[in-house]
Amino acid sequence: MDDSLVRELVSRVSGDTVESLLVRMRQFATRYSSTDSCFRAMEWVRSRFEAWGCSTYLDTFRPGYAPNAVGIKRGTLTPDAVFVVCGHTDATSEIPFTLTPGSEDNASGTAAVMELCRATADTEFENTVWFIGFAGEEQGLVGSDSFARQAADRGDSIVLAVNFDMISYGRENKDTIVIYGARQAPGSEQWVDFFIAQADSFSDLKHRKTMEYIPQARSDHYSFWKYGFPAIRGGYSDRTPHYHSTGDTIGPLYYAQCGTNNIPMEAEVIKALVATIAKLGGAHLPVGIEQRPHRPAARLLEVRPTVGPAPLSLRLSGPLSMNSTLEVYDATGSLVRRLDCSGCSTASWDGTDRYSRQLPSGIYLFRVNVPGHSSVARAVLTR
Ligand SMILES: [Zn+2]
Repeated sequence: MDDSLVRELVSRVSGDTVESLLVRMRQFATRYSSTDSCFRAMEWVRSRFEAWGCSTYLDTFRPGYAPNAVGIKRGTLTPDAVFVVCGHTDATSEIPFTLTPGSEDNASGTAAVMELCRATADTEFENTVWFIGFAGEEQGLVGSDSFARQAADRGDSIVLAVNFDMISYGRENKDTIVIYGARQAPGSEQWVDFFIAQADSFSDLKHRKTMEYIPQARSDHYSFWKYGFPAIRGGYSDRTPHYHSTGDTIGPLYYAQCGTNNIPMEAEVIKALVATIAKLGGAHLPVGIEQRPHRPAARLLEVRPTVGPAPLSLRLSGPLSMNSTLEVYDATGSLVRRLDCSGCSTASWDGTDRYSRQLPSGIYLFRVNVPGHSSVARAVLTR
């Protein structure tokens, strides 16, 4: 296939978006599988897959456990050939029912699946692509085990499952991502090599190939191996000291008070992923797109209340396209927050900055940037 579309899709991968996805997942407080909060997180992941052009469902696998969130792009040419991209969304810590930030483990992997979905939102695939946020990983891969077993029972043809678990931690000179296969998992080595070849062509990712001899049940790709499907995993080489703890929070690299995220490294992983799936899935623009009615770019219509406490509601003239942004500035003109609402025509701001800190009362400016123009509205936040 023509590499120009692959390059276009890869160019859409944005570290800012990845960070906003990590922050949003952190706001669920806990994503421990048996909590209501994790249910809400899985529903949010599903809703994003839907906003980005997938048909979706919640896959309930065990009573009392949050479901897996599944998005499907059905293949236009050979829909029976399936490529799976997954990462577990659930998390754990020493106080799992209260707080599991799980930023590295594994909001980072979930964000990779979501950013791929966002980057390919207006794209179709010749083969079918499934986007999955698994639950129950921390209880022994139970969400993915159920999912892969059912796929095997149905006789699905999963050509490859790509799993990411912990891909945003890596200090200087240790910022290498390991791409795993297993010698006894048929077919995985060729896919490890394929992923690495795309990484070399389309990203600056530093990587290392590791072939386990006997498949190890370390993350959800194992469930696919177990039921006979080829699978690979991307993971850290530098393990966060905040693993499975309340310290696994959002922060820029070297932010001393908490866990750190190497967002630029994660963005390179995702570029390699986007190239891999664009090629294997057979990405193409929708046929007949030029005949579609021209839709005017979304404008910001109003913010309500104009003076009042958070949350503030924003209304747009139409759904925001994926190459548009909705930003919040304070009175000094500093960008304080980027709101995640591609595909939506309404948004809500809770009065916090990108690190979930409450912002003071004052005048705030909201700006919608679409290619070619921007629109603004103001409101006064009170406490
Ligand atoms: Zn994990």
